[in-house]
Amino acid sequence: MTPTAPTIQPAPPSGASAGEPAPMLRLEGIRKHFQRKPDILRRALIRAGMARPPQVVHAVDSVDLSIRKGEVVGLVGESGCGKSTLGRIVAGILPQSGGRIAFNGRDMAKMTRREYQAAQLDIQMVFQNPFASLNPRIKIADAIAEAPAYHGLIEGDRNAFVDEQLLRVGIDPSYKNRFAHQFSGGQRQRIAIARALSVDPAFIVCDEAVAALDVSIQAQVLNLFMDLKERLDLTYLFISHDLGVIEHISDRAAIMYLGRIVEEAPTEDVFRAPNHPYTQALLEEVPRIDTSRRKFHAIRGELPSPLAPPPGCHFHPRCPHAFDRCRAEAPRLREIAPGRRSACHLNDRG
Ligand code: SF4
Repeated sequence: MTPTAPTIQPAPPSGASAGEPAPMLRLEGIRKHFQRKPDILRRALIRAGMARPPQVVHAVDSVDLSIRKGEVVGLVGESGCGKSTLGRIVAGILPQSGGRIAFNGRDMAKMTRREYQAAQLDIQMVFQNPFASLNPRIKIADAIAEAPAYHGLIEGDRNAFVDEQLLRVGIDPSYKNRFAHQFSGGQRQRIAIARALSVDPAFIVCDEAVAALDVSIQAQVLNLFMDLKERLDLTYLFISHDLGVIEHISDRAAIMYLGRIVEEAPTEDVFRAPNHPYTQALLEEVPRIDTSRRKFHAIRGELPSPLAPPPGCHFHPRCPHAFDRCRAEAPRLREIAPGRRSACHLNDRG
């Protein structure tokens, strides 16, 4: 069989079906490419045909994903699969190279400046490392009050506002004049959560938000996330490489491999009966003492470089079921059952 150029056909967005309200967040065909800028000498060599143009990293490749209000969507994949890049795009920290983002039914590219700023405040991010969002040189009271004060969101007494923010994440307000380094890792993450919530967002991107914590502290912080979700009516995109975390916290799970979502379904369905061979490989049981936690184990073969992803289905060099079509044509992420989508040619074989 002669391989043809790889094609990716856009999948219909996940989430709401006809008659349902628009999802809170809808991503359509989101792409992110990184390209290192050549220096002057290299540019001259490229112009003269003596050097190749710099390679492009396809970090995120035509991602469609919808998240309904009040949902927790878990985004899972190996390190380097593009999940953190996608999270940063959603949070407005990185611009996408292509595709469309709609928030509360409005295309963000068509919003006025004021509307766009309001939408950005409504979407906040919690990082793996709290130091990424906490300046070690300022007191935590100032770290928490800085953004809401700037945006005019503090009504009344600033001290009382800070106390309230700390109390709801379980930090004693009498510690508010301390610095970030004076707290434990779990407390720092609670403070980072308080800081993200201080501008009253509706949507939180959590990027490996418990990955750096001890297991016992992880459980406490996960419970805090769930408690805050109920109390503050929040919606989460929860990014993690830890399958146990995704299984515990998310309503729906999206599995990402080399920049593409390969499977998306209610979490229970993904864990009970994974459809995509990559998801199946991730979930394969491995003998372990602590069976309550599932982490990635080695899948045969190495994760290919996003600089030169394999043609067709990116997973084909590692897939035990690969056949000719897989090497030539990228499978479309399509509905295989109500609420379930998968990108595998095996689903066309009947
Ligand atoms: Fe494996 Fe082919 Fe399915 Fe890709 S499309 S996961 S290579 S069977």
